[in-house]
Amino acid sequence: MIGGGVAGLGIALSLARAGHRVRIVERDAAPLPESPVEAFEKWERRGTPQARHSHAFLARLRNGLAERMPDVLEALLEAGAEELRFADLLPASMTDRSPRPGDEALTMLACRRITFEWVLRRAALDEPGITFEDGTRVVGLDVEPGAPARVRGLHVRRGRVAPLETRSADLVIDAGGRRSRAPRWLEEAGVPRPAEEREACGIFYCSRFFRLRPGVSPPERDTTIGADLGYVKYAIFHGDSKIFSVTLAASPEDAPLRAVLRTRPFEAATGALPAIAAWTARAEPLGGVYGMAALDNTRRFYVGEDGPLATGFVALGDASVHTNPLYGRGCTLALVHAWALADAVAEHGVEGTALALAFEEATRRELVPWYELARRQDRDASALARLYARGEDPADEPEPDGPVDPKRFMRSLILHGLVPALRTDPDVARAFFRSFNCLVPPSDLMKDPVLLPRILACYQARQGREEPRLGPTRAEMVERLAHA
Ligand SMILES: Cc1cc2nc3c(=O)[nH]c(=O)nc-3n(C[C@H](O)[C@H](O)[C@H](O)COP(=O)(O)OP(=O)(O)OC[C@H]3O[C@@H](n4cnc5c(N)ncnc54)[C@H](O)[C@@H]3O)c2cc1C
Repeated sequence: MIGGGVAGLGIALSLARAGHRVRIVERDAAPLPESPVEAFEKWERRGTPQARHSHAFLARLRNGLAERMPDVLEALLEAGAEELRFADLLPASMTDRSPRPGDEALTMLACRRITFEWVLRRAALDEPGITFEDGTRVVGLDVEPGAPARVRGLHVRRGRVAPLETRSADLVIDAGGRRSRAPRWLEEAGVPRPAEEREACGIFYCSRFFRLRPGVSPPERDTTIGADLGYVKYAIFHGDSKIFSVTLAASPEDAPLRAVLRTRPFEAATGALPAIAAWTARAEPLGGVYGMAALDNTRRFYVGEDGPLATGFVALGDASVHTNPLYGRGCTLALVHAWALADAVAEHGVEGTALALAFEEATRRELVPWYELARRQDRDASALARLYARGEDPADEPEPDGPVDPKRFMRSLILHGLVPALRTDPDVARAFFRSFNCLVPPSDLMKDPVLLPRILACYQARQGREEPRLGPTRAEMVERLAHA
């Protein structure tokens, strides 16, 4: 295994428990701290800089853990993670709060990424079939030429000047994350370089963690705690142990907004977002603002029309497909991918073309639809952000007798139809929650024959309805940031 992050640990546990011997080669020399509390304070995970960012853990992930790794779910709850049920997340404006069959599956996990990874690593270290070799960097692949070529193992170094060593394996799994170098290593070994699709997400991302003050409860969830103002997106992410984080994301092209990457402007921005301010007013910050940029939606193609580029090798999780972090799907999809790989290995064994083809099929079924959705949504969001930056309001009401711009109408329908319906209609809210949590394949709520009339009814009742104020206009925000 290249890499001991979420995907690497997930597949290692699944394979070891199915009787395989697994060696994880992880570049970070970062022994597991005693507890998640200590891990948050000082675990040096340079290989996963996103570990210091907000993470959502979706219902699909929580349900998969309950089914496949109940001990891991239990350990997460013992470590302070909480289950967030659909009913817990309904705003006060939702009057019909009666439970429905199937609601138990609509449960997310509130947990910090560091805690999540700590619990997975603890389980892997306790698993007899797993060897965790940290402080060891993979620098190449041991490849036997052929058609297709066959990957036989890894070239590794245990320190910068240490001699090259080889680790042989029946199957090499690349779980090296979004910046995986496996495409280059294959090429260096004489295998055609895998094709890669890459498209900018159109955002930078920044997060800050907070702890609720002793004896203080979280605010009523009477307004949404995640929203898209067009020029900025914001959300609260529930963590474990009374800790939560706030994330802001905006276009890297919007220069004045990039100020939020610094502490004082970040505070000025969150202070202007009522739903966020209600939380931060009850909490102490834990450290500063972490930023992250250069975020892409990426897909790597290791299986071509003629079959796999190499056998004995598969790419897992972010190393295969990764998407805009704002949608909060990365860890969920990484584990769904790991479980699909474990199933494919159980059916086809660890070697050969059959495994590569079966796993490719699973990747297309489980990951690619979310990747395609993220690309479409990001293109729309980037176009919108550009309009806001030019001072236009792309969801303005059209003139009564003027021509209807379909894109503008759709934005208006989302803003004045779907968004209010999510606050008042339990069926629309359930359908949205199922889709957001990857419990159903991506689908368009606006094309649902049952839901669309309800969304339209909400839209038609927009005149005279008082919408909650989600935040200032871009111009107001830019002025605040300039003062800060
Ligand atoms: C800013 C941000 C916010 C995010 N928010 C969310 C969220 O809310 N919810 C969510 O589910 N997902 C989120 N994600 C995505 C999520 O973090 C990833 O999808 C997930 O970590 C994928 O796991 P992975 O194991 O594939 O890669 P990683 O977790 O990145 O692990 C890769 C591992 O490989 C190791 N490695 C790399 N190269 C080598 C090498 N040469 N030799 C040895 N080891 C190596 C690294 O050190 C690391 O340990 C976010 C991502 C970002 C960037």
